[in-house]
Amino acid sequence: MDSVIHIKQEATKCVACGLCLPHCPTYNLLQDEAESPRGRLSLMLALAREDLPLNAKLESHLARCLDCRACEKVCPSYVDFGLALDSARAVIESRRAEAGLPACKSTSLIEWLVEQPARMRRLTKLLRLYQQSGLQWLLRISRMLRLLRLDHLDADIPRLTPLKDLAEFHPAMDKSKGKVVLFTGCQAEMADQPALASSIRLLNRLGYEVHIPVKQNCCGALHLHAGHREKAIELMRRNIDAFSGGNEAILSVASGCTATLGEYNKYINDNKSASGFSARIKDINQFLEGATWPEGISFHSLPRRIVVHNPCSLTHVLRQEDKPYSLLAKIPGAEILSLPENNLCCGAAGAYHLTQMSIAKRLRDPKIMHLKRLIPDILVTSNPGCATFLGAGLREAGLATEVLHPVTLLARQLKP
Ligand code: SF4
Ligand code: SF4
Repeated sequence: MDSVIHIKQEATKCVACGLCLPHCPTYNLLQDEAESPRGRLSLMLALAREDLPLNAKLESHLARCLDCRACEKVCPSYVDFGLALDSARAVIESRRAEAGLPACKSTSLIEWLVEQPARMRRLTKLLRLYQQSGLQWLLRISRMLRLLRLDHLDADIPRLTPLKDLAEFHPAMDKSKGKVVLFTGCQAEMADQPALASSIRLLNRLGYEVHIPVKQNCCGALHLHAGHREKAIELMRRNIDAFSGGNEAILSVASGCTATLGEYNKYINDNKSASGFSARIKDINQFLEGATWPEGISFHSLPRRIVVHNPCSLTHVLRQEDKPYSLLAKIPGAEILSLPENNLCCGAAGAYHLTQMSIAKRLRDPKIMHLKRLIPDILVTSNPGCATFLGAGLREAGLATEVLHPVTLLARQLKP
């Protein structure tokens, strides 16, 4: 089985030097070797070699890993921690199925929802109705949500904008200087359609025509990180087909999705098109920052404090965390600050904030504490999952800080 081979290949590279330990958010928080990258790699190896039977403790140590990959970035032995962890979770899921144990109900539901873009759209419309009709307000003030223990879930719902169907083709504003293809994703389309619309607007203004393949679907990240590798690979193959037939850059707006799209070739190695696909993937900040900006494009001044959050996917996997800062520097008058301790995960981590709620909140608390001190007008982040989770924390803390994707802010300030 590929997963067992991947674990052995990566975990045996670890020389137990411990250099990753201070960079690991769960080790910092829990002060337990089994919650560190080094400890987890030992557990994964024991699992792969069948030195340890599957048991609740082992599963819990691996489930508590954020998959933030801060450890991977600093590892002198180049351990691919992401590949090892996703493989270990796949082994756990297959051994659980062999033993007749059930899958986690909440992750199964999320995975089922994101598999089909139409399901996510229907859910978004229902949630918007829930917000617009006043039902959310009523349930909140009546404390019903707390009684039903749904208050945390409710707090996580971002303020939803009306969903618009995005056209398949968006022409360049003046003479076309090239074509790009846009990955819209399931979560980004639901939680951050303004970021997609802003990306299209900026790209068209820069002279790029934007194409959006209709047959694309979820990137597969949630399935992959939950150990459902076969389903993840099925979604990956569908995306590879949807984007075939060209060599243009594939731009992705949500950094969590971008990180997974760029690594399809790690999981599909029987297919040359997977490496071709991954090589075409670019983060939207990275693409816009590297593009030639025509003379005459300028931005309205914004004398406001803007704090930048660096998502782990953008920082530790894509390693493009400097790009939003360069882009935002184009806005005159804006005070741009980095969120302190930006190298540590905020706790959102895909479905982690739903499955490991208590640890996720303890990881978010210091971020909110810094934001309470800095009181920014706007918090920018390139990942919709982080935006949703941090936004909920800001609301709970009574802060009116707006949370935006960097391209949304940039497009908002663009002069006609
Ligand atoms: S830095 Fe790398 S080699 Fe060192 S303990 Fe961590 S995972 Fe192992
Ligand atoms: S991925 Fe993140 S949480 Fe998991 S072991 Fe590495 S640094 Fe720690």
